Amino acid sequence: MKIICIGRNYADHAKELKNEVPTEPVFFMKPDTALLKPKQVFFLPDFSKEVHHELELVVRINRLGKNIEERFAHRYYNEIGLGIDFTARDLQQQCKEKGLPWEKAKAFDGSAPLGDFIPVTDKTELNNLKLELKLNGTTKQLGNTKDMIFSIDKIIAYISQFMTLKIGDLIFTGTPSGVGAVAENDLLEGFLNDQQLLTLRIK
Ligand code: ZN
Repeated sequence: MKIICIGRNYADHAKELKNEVPTEPVFFMKPDTALLKPKQVFFLPDFSKEVHHELELVVRINRLGKNIEERFAHRYYNEIGLGIDFTARDLQQQCKEKGLPWEKAKAFDGSAPLGDFIPVTDKTELNNLKLELKLNGTTKQLGNTKDMIFSIDKIIAYISQFMTLKIGDLIFTGTPSGVGAVAENDLLEGFLNDQQLLTLRIK
């Protein structure tokens, strides 16, 4: 399986990092070794002094597809959840300045913790989901999927032009503003429409 992440999908987050708002999706990948299952802990890596949390809605692909049309994209997933796109912001900044790829900053071990997934039903308003991240009990990120620049279906259509999507692939759909550094012993909690799906301890 592969993990595909969308960058700069919320205008307010693009602004906080002084990035331009993109006109087409920006995506990058993480390997399966980046995954952390629910209840695993995240160990801060030695190579960064600034690991940021990015709370994101995650979509799990349940059907093989290539060149998927946007109007059919909803047939390719039936579960959503929350994940953290951990980012070594100091390394990412160096990569950006030199025009280098981001993998060092984005794809390291444990950089993609997942929470629990919930089914997508007829009642799920994919374009109106509230995302909230609490750090040690204090809300740090509060967003809504209505502010996504590119919808889930647009993202699937876009990515599948370039690579085949397979069952079990995960798409991290971008983070709202409020990203910040984590420290040892921090507790991260992620809520989707006020339902807690993710709990993660930093070590
Ligand atoms: Zn991200």
